[in-house]
Amino acid sequence: MLTLPAAVRKLAEGIPHPVGLIGCRTSKMSLDCCEYDLAVFSPENQSNQVLQAGGHTVELIHLPGQVKNHVVELGDMEILKDTNKFMLSSAARNVTPEKYKRVVAAAGKKSLISSLFCLQKMHRAKTGAVASMWLKVAAYDFVGGMLAMSGRKPMPLHELEQARQADAGGIAEVVEVALECIGIERATRPAISRSMGAIKELKSKDYDKDLFMSKAEHLLGRSMLTDCYYYIGRVAAKDLVQRKDLFYSQYPKLVQLAMDLSSDVQRLEKLQKHLFRAASSHLKG
Ligand SMILES: [Zn+2]
Repeated sequence: MLTLPAAVRKLAEGIPHPVGLIGCRTSKMSLDCCEYDLAVFSPENQSNQVLQAGGHTVELIHLPGQVKNHVVELGDMEILKDTNKFMLSSAARNVTPEKYKRVVAAAGKKSLISSLFCLQKMHRAKTGAVASMWLKVAAYDFVGGMLAMSGRKPMPLHELEQARQADAGGIAEVVEVALECIGIERATRPAISRSMGAIKELKSKDYDKDLFMSKAEHLLGRSMLTDCYYYIGRVAAKDLVQRKDLFYSQYPKLVQLAMDLSSDVQRLEKLQKHLFRAASSHLKG
């Protein structure tokens, strides 16, 4: 069982809404750099925020709407504060392991479909770098999708480790293809620091930018280069997919650096075909 720092527990108790601990801190995978993710069920719309409590980093994640709709969060939540009618506990009790697995797997299927869409976007890309960006985005969707379809909720910072541990689940071979698309063999300190500089610029207005930087630096400090390369690429991918084509043509260098893109077109096409085949066959299966 995990021990929650007293300062974090106190902070949770002071929030005037039901609160639960979610994310990697409920698993055995968390690292020293990981924040404590607190899900806050407040009726009004609020924005997420990162704060400090007794030397620990806490992220408040506001989950809007009906509590029972947040099946995945309820499924691995440790309840820290409930209403006097135990609303959160009873919602969590209704999430059986089967239901949790079903919902996570459905999200995984969605990620695989999105992976296929990104692979199709490669054909419309105007430059090799943008095509390479879509390939990487597709590869991240693919890895997350495969993990979820096998019942594991993907956790960005730990996804590569989760994929390694899923080896026994027989997904190693196809994940290998995705890691080749991501270019995991390019994980060197210079490549990582170039990307981090660019991502810092991309995320300059985000509330969680310092948290991102401190996690990446922690991985670097522990010489976890491939995990770091994977993680920062995933964060960059999440940011870039939300932007418009115009952004890619206006800031090609920033996009290229953030995701450490190569533009070896022949190689990209070969990888595209491999990943497309892998994603389609797992959707059928
Ligand atoms: Zn973590």
